[in-house]
Amino acid sequence: MLFGSIEAGGTKFVCGIGNEKGDILERLSLPTTTPEETLAGCEHFFEGKDVSAIGIGSFGPVDLDPSSATYGHIMNTPKLAWKHFDLFGAAKLRWNVPIGLDTDVNAAALAESKWGAAAGLQNCLYITVGTGIGAGAVVDGQMLKGISHPEMGHILVRRRHDDTYKGGCPYHTDCLEGLAAGPAIEARWGKKGVELQEDHKVWELEAFYLSEALVNYILTLAPKKIIMGGGVMKQRQLFPLIHHQVQQKLNDYVFFSQLTSEKIADYIVPPQLEDNAGIKGAMAIAQQAYDETS
Ligand code: ADP
Ligand code: ZN
Repeated sequence: MLFGSIEAGGTKFVCGIGNEKGDILERLSLPTTTPEETLAGCEHFFEGKDVSAIGIGSFGPVDLDPSSATYGHIMNTPKLAWKHFDLFGAAKLRWNVPIGLDTDVNAAALAESKWGAAAGLQNCLYITVGTGIGAGAVVDGQMLKGISHPEMGHILVRRRHDDTYKGGCPYHTDCLEGLAAGPAIEARWGKKGVELQEDHKVWELEAFYLSEALVNYILTLAPKKIIMGGGVMKQRQLFPLIHHQVQQKLNDYVFFSQLTSEKIADYIVPPQLEDNAGIKGAMAIAQQAYDETS
């Protein structure tokens, strides 16, 4: 059986065909222009491919409340041609197969839980630290959702006493994303993260904020594995700093064996699927949509 997937990003759309094991058999990358033009390119790709369902992992925010009149619409995005666009409705009109939709972060989380760093666990947290910060939680093999998808990148964290950077989130100023996403590193230190590789104090502070967030996620969700991806996490020296600070902040209050010094490097980990997480995740979303309708 073949499934179709669309990784719908702000700069490019990647379409794929794959099987139930998550193997990608064919793919095509298209620039994100207008909704009409971009989806026409996807339609052309899927023509004659006989997929049983199509999954979409989309940039957001996207309305995922099934009872909402704007379910499946892209909400407040700076990409004006896409603002309030009915992505789910447009996909339904174009393709006469079950359509599944979730966020790009949730798609990556699902893929890592099925075929990547959390394979076999059915329960994990995936966090991406890039232009923004987003996180998705897989609980019993399903994405955690309430009214809509969570926005865990915008949680409020304690500020480190010596950090004078005011924060860059347009909504909350100094939420986690405002203090720790890639643009915050650049604004605080005057250079892009990749150019600050050797500067230990940059990564100590970054690990301070990311560990604040992880402690909150561990205390509220008790995930079985935490996977950290996105451009900023390419600075692999962050991992041991984060491990150490998470342990210090939890201070043995929770005593999962995963949090011990011997095991924590296997608990808070980099992604395994890397650049394939989005497209594979959309494949997993397609499979779920198929299972729900058959
Ligand atoms: P996006 O979030 O836009 O999908 P990325 O995950 O690559 O894309 O995130 C881009 C952000 O991450 C930018 O702020 C960039 O400066 C930062 N970034 C990208 N690569 C690195 C790196 N190797 N080291 C540190 N920061 C990086
Ligand atoms: Zn915010």
